Amino acid sequence: MKIRIGQGIDFHRLENGLSLWLGGIRIPSAKGCVAHSDGDVLLHAICDALLGAAGLRDIGYYFPDSSDEFKNIDSKILLSRTVNLISEKGFSIINIDSTICLEKPRISSFIPEMKSAISGITGIEPDDVAIKATTTEKLGFAGREEGIMAIAVVLLSGK
Ligand SMILES: [Zn+2]
Repeated sequence: MKIRIGQGIDFHRLENGLSLWLGGIRIPSAKGCVAHSDGDVLLHAICDALLGAAGLRDIGYYFPDSSDEFKNIDSKILLSRTVNLISEKGFSIINIDSTICLEKPRISSFIPEMKSAISGITGIEPDDVAIKATTTEKLGFAGREEGIMAIAVVLLSGK
């Protein structure tokens, strides 16, 4: 069996009055992500990690932000299509580990719901989806609440 690792990282700007989508769910927040899609930074990082592990291109290659097809699109659809792309190459997911960097709001109480949303799309168990959250101790763009970042690592198995 072939084992492949992949990593992904994503950033979005935060602005007042927009919806905050994270890990496939909407989180109550004064600020949300500026994006062509729904701006789900965690799902985008996971998509890139999956694509990378399968030796494919990045999320912007398959789902360009210049295309009207993807305007305001639910990132759960992008993740689902990404899972199809890696399945077509004969890969299946072993586990996903990820970290979200943001100052506000506190998201730990939403993590079980995010895990279950990602588990539902990827077909792996919720226990095989890890989501951690951290602040940057008020440092940098995340600390100033100007933006949000997520990183993800995945392991795939193939034939
Ligand atoms: Zn993104």
